[in-house]
Amino acid sequence: MSPLELNKESGPREVFCGLTSIVWLHRRMPDAFFLVVGSRTCAHLIQSAAGVMIFAEPRFGTAILEEKDLAGLADANEELDRVVDKLIDRRPEIKTLFLVGSCPSEVIKLDLATVAERLSKKFIGKVRVVNYSGSGIETTFTQGEDGALKALIPLMKETNENQLLLVGTLANSVEDRFIKIFKKMGIEKVQSLPPRQSMDLPAIGKNTKVLLTQPYLSETIRSLQHKGCEIIYAPFPLGIEGSTKWFLAAAEAFKINAIKVHEILAPLTDRARKSLEVHKSILKGKKLFLLPESQLEIPLARFLHNELGMELIEVGTPYLNRDLMKTELDLLPQNTTIVEGQHVEKQLDRVRASSPDLVVCGMGLANPLEAEGIHTKWSIEMVFSPIHGIDQASDLAALFSKPLKRNEILSTKLLATN
Ligand code: SF4
Repeated sequence: MSPLELNKESGPREVFCGLTSIVWLHRRMPDAFFLVVGSRTCAHLIQSAAGVMIFAEPRFGTAILEEKDLAGLADANEELDRVVDKLIDRRPEIKTLFLVGSCPSEVIKLDLATVAERLSKKFIGKVRVVNYSGSGIETTFTQGEDGALKALIPLMKETNENQLLLVGTLANSVEDRFIKIFKKMGIEKVQSLPPRQSMDLPAIGKNTKVLLTQPYLSETIRSLQHKGCEIIYAPFPLGIEGSTKWFLAAAEAFKINAIKVHEILAPLTDRARKSLEVHKSILKGKKLFLLPESQLEIPLARFLHNELGMELIEVGTPYLNRDLMKTELDLLPQNTTIVEGQHVEKQLDRVRASSPDLVVCGMGLANPLEAEGIHTKWSIEMVFSPIHGIDQASDLAALFSKPLKRNEILSTKLLATN
């Protein structure tokens, strides 16, 4: 058991909802469409988070529930069918349609699972329809991906082939580099969930070994275990340490000699160590407070402390899966305070009292904290940036060192003008 202080907290939360994950999922699977069944607020959230596409047709949209739907005066099912008919007629390139539940659809108890089943039968051979919830009542923003991937598992065929399955969205360039390394190690068959096209879902079975790339996929992992897949428990591939241990865990599962892995990774590691130095000179000894939002907080804290010398004041996480996080928790320094859940007011009080040099938090909290003179980093940037792997360690460090460097320069200039 890790000698850490593990606390739980509940109360008012300040996090994005699971709809946000549509932003990176629709980029990963261009043959899929995400139809949010929600309100105008949901539509605004998605549009502002994903930006407006000028040259391409968007691959997400919102079926707006009007007041009469919410008051139970209209049959929302009929209206939804109409919207889907129109969409599929107009967009024949759509191969998988995700119906994404929201707070309003949940409040009126719209049964999207039944709708998805009915529409799947209706469009059989043309479009597959699945559903998941992105509602803010149930999910924080990365949990949307967990729901989407879990919804795809029943569509995956069975195989007994010996293979590695990487689970969690990666930037395509990072995925290519990982596959190259696994091939050098001797793991020939490497598949990904989500795949680059929603129709290319890998088959899975008892000889599938699952390696997570993202820490927020507890439900997906549970479903893969039910399908007989073996889970490889490892730290997450952030930074040199996490990525090396991640590759080593895969090697162990495939009975590959660890020395071979170290030999393959050595040139990458040497290069990355050198490139981290400049960031370490800025970050070392700086106090870091991570507020809970993405579930990436624990691996990030481990990287920023162990490889860059930052001092951890508090590490918040919206949800702590002790099985998936065990190897990460073991790498944290003794006496690290971990807080699962959120009472935003109490956490903000602790932030103010501890005078951190940097706070990692959601966008909603960043502006007020900046106005108080507390420097922040949006946690959402970590899911939009290619931060995985040894090659990316320096870019990941730069996300934290750059704002601190900029602030140092600004305050020096201010002092000079005064
Ligand atoms: S799902 Fe809920 S929290 Fe998310 S945008 Fe819609 S109403 Fe807001």
